[in-house]
Amino acid sequence: MEKCKREEILKNCGCTYSGCSKKGKCCDCIAYHREMNQLPGCLFPLEAEKTYDRSIKYYCEVMSKRGFRLY
Ligand code: SF4
Repeated sequence: MEKCKREEILKNCGCTYSGCSKKGKCCDCIAYHREMNQLPGCLFPLEAEKTYDRSIKYYCEVMSKRGFRLY
């Protein structure tokens, strides 16, 4: 089994929400937000991430304002 990379991942985690037990455990983080029809914080641009709005709707709004085509 591969060694856990949590400590390494935590150094570069883009989520600023402190106290989350899933922080640094990407598989748990993704599973949690997928279940909520959301995306993990690390996919959002810095300022957008700080709102803690993880909705796909918000992600699309933010990214479309940046000129990304989402289809
Ligand atoms: S994105 Fe959500 S689940 Fe992932 S570390 Fe941040 S608060 Fe926790």
